[in-house]
Amino acid sequence: MNDYHILVVEDERNIRNFIKTILTSNNYTVLTATTGEDAMTLLSSRCPDLVLLDLGLPDTDGQMFIQAVRRWSQVPILVVSARSHERDKVMALDFGADDYITKPFGTSELLARVRAALRHAAQRSSGQQISLYHCRDLTVDAEKRRVQLSGSDIHLTQNEYKIVSLLARYAGKVLTYDQIIQHVWGPNAAGDNRILRVNMANIRRKLEANPAEPQYIFTEIGVGYRMAEGE
Ligand code: CA
Repeated sequence: MNDYHILVVEDERNIRNFIKTILTSNNYTVLTATTGEDAMTLLSSRCPDLVLLDLGLPDTDGQMFIQAVRRWSQVPILVVSARSHERDKVMALDFGADDYITKPFGTSELLARVRAALRHAAQRSSGQQISLYHCRDLTVDAEKRRVQLSGSDIHLTQNEYKIVSLLARYAGKVLTYDQIIQHVWGPNAAGDNRILRVNMANIRRKLEANPAEPQYIFTEIGVGYRMAEGE
């Protein structure tokens, strides 16, 4: 057993049971709710470590639920969303959701998202930051400000490095275009993604064996980028 309690908020029985079976068989303790009201009650009475939230609930809008929770709790929220609802995903992330997973999803994807969200929450509450990222041939050492591929230094511009190290710090979690742009170019940067896309193309040319099929930094269409989970 691990000690993690996960609250699954989902009104569709099949999906709820599917998620519950996966999590239970991986030693998570699962609480379930089918409405926003029940979820809010369980959230305050049972203090789960993570919430898996369907945005389309019978009694409340998932976006409003996220806002209501964020007034008093920093519990990680993982949104379960239908494909092609990019606007919903971005809005949920802006309201304070930690990440999302797109239906239909597989077991390993669900578990990876859960692990990443729990890990980031633990890092946040302990104030510690992992300074070394490692995945296959790629190493990002935030202390030495060094990026290496198979042991050779990769030369990145300052902005390219800022983007890579930010994504590495949040490996496994999606970061929206706006979150990355504000981190690199500041809060007053123009809201268009073109300069970010240009930088990302250059980064991929330097890091990826085949930039068209990246294995380190993935595009989340309409939302942002996600770095592969570290090892
Ligand atoms: Ca639903």
